[in-house]
Amino acid sequence: MLRLPPFVVLQPETPEQAVAAWHPEAVYMAGGTDLLPNLKHGLGAPKQLISLNRLPRGGILIEAEQLVVCASTTLSELAQSKLVRGLAPPLARAASLVASPQIRNAGTLGGNILLDTRCLFYNQTAFWRRALGHCLKAEGDWCHVIGGPKTCVAAQSSDTVPVLLGLDASVELLGASGARVLALRDLFRFNGMDHLKLEPGELLTRVFIPRPAPGFRGTYEKLRVRDSIDFPQLGLAISGTWEGTTPKTLDIVVGAAGPIPKPIGKLEAFCGQELTDEGIEAIAELVRKGTRPNEAIHGDPAWRRQMSAVMTRRALTALRDA
Ligand SMILES: Cc1cc2nc3c(=O)[nH]c(=O)nc-3n(C[C@H](O)[C@H](O)[C@H](O)COP(=O)(O)OP(=O)(O)OC[C@H]3O[C@@H](n4cnc5c(N)ncnc54)[C@H](O)[C@@H]3O)c2cc1C
Ligand code: SF4
Repeated sequence: MLRLPPFVVLQPETPEQAVAAWHPEAVYMAGGTDLLPNLKHGLGAPKQLISLNRLPRGGILIEAEQLVVCASTTLSELAQSKLVRGLAPPLARAASLVASPQIRNAGTLGGNILLDTRCLFYNQTAFWRRALGHCLKAEGDWCHVIGGPKTCVAAQSSDTVPVLLGLDASVELLGASGARVLALRDLFRFNGMDHLKLEPGELLTRVFIPRPAPGFRGTYEKLRVRDSIDFPQLGLAISGTWEGTTPKTLDIVVGAAGPIPKPIGKLEAFCGQELTDEGIEAIAELVRKGTRPNEAIHGDPAWRRQMSAVMTRRALTALRDA
């Protein structure tokens, strides 16, 4: 049986109290669906858990031409919200594809954005990791994926993050010296051991998503072993504005292929003209070239890379013909 380490649970009632309670041996806990399994695996042993469950719940609303989502919104609430389904359908879809209903009922958007990176050599029991001789991200000095002593390439495995990046979202962070707003694209760094550019103790409070322009169409496609529960082996977020079969803007972000989601460049060349089957093939090839999955998570990297093109072709054809 896997047991949790001993800790004290604090239950602040305001974000300010939560931030004031933070110290280097404490961690925030929202739904706990990422954090608690990790603690059971001996990945961290904080002295205090600062539960966010008693903080006021801000819900989902429209404010100054943007969708404002409180970090404590559960993935189920996000998936079912009429506002989100109407204004940012790929976000509702991505939330609906996370894990299982029970996990979506407890897991929050804030926790989904900030969840730890994942790796087959890391997300294991302490016994398993010890038998292997540990790895760079926890207790060891060697990466078993790339075979080196410096870089960890564990995968950023959130389903909502690629979509939020495509929607140009930003996050509100509350720290000891006040609140700041950070573009989501500036939150991540290419380092699976330390992939979030957060100041110590910063609390994610709200997520801002600009209201999409008229003609918006987008989707999120997910490759995984079992549709009922698994993390992504690859995530593909597409968003854009369309006039008939002509994309006016197009954004594609690939998730779960490394420590940071990968935006695909050079898509402007396909905008402002009808998107033909040949154009879709060319974009699928751009995505394939830009997607370099590694062996940190399940699935042959070459097959996942090839699937990025297949998923792009299918998703773009459906969006064009919608
Ligand atoms: C079996 C299983 C399958 C899963 N499948 C998927 C999947 O398919 N796709 C996917 O994306 N995820 C998956 N997850 C991971 C997880 O359930 C979700 O990512 C969930 O959204 C995490 O949210 P949470 O509120 O439970 O986060 P928590 O576990 O509470 O927290 C996660 C991390 O974020 C920090 N944190 C949380 N909220 C805040 C905040 N407001 N401010 C600062 N720090 C904060 C915590 O300290 C912790 O480090 C799965 C988990 C399990 C156990
Ligand atoms: S990518 Fe390498 S260092 Fe990172 S968790 Fe996996 S084995 Fe460890």
